[in-house]
Amino acid sequence: MSIDVHVTGGGTISNGELRVEPSTVARCTLCAREVEASASIVEGVLACAACLRDRLDAMSVARFRLRESRSGSLPWGKVTS
Ligand SMILES: [Zn+2]
Repeated sequence: MSIDVHVTGGGTISNGELRVEPSTVARCTLCAREVEASASIVEGVLACAACLRDRLDAMSVARFRLRESRSGSLPWGKVTS
C-alpha cells in the first residue's frame, strides 16, 4: 500500500509520483485542520504529524498499561499482585 502525502505550498506524492503544486493545502481528516503536511491512512483519509504522534503515544501508553505493568517486573506491580 502506498502512502500518499500532501505538503502545503509544495504539492503531493501519490502512488510514488511527485506532483509539484504550490497551491496545495494539506489537510488532516482527524483534526480537521490545515497542516504543513499530511499522510494518507486509507483512501481519502489523511492525518497530520500531531495526530499520528498522538496515536503512537496512545499505543505506547496502552501497551504499558495493559501488558508491561502487569508483568510483575515493576515494583508497584509486585506490591499489588
Ligand atoms: Zn491532525
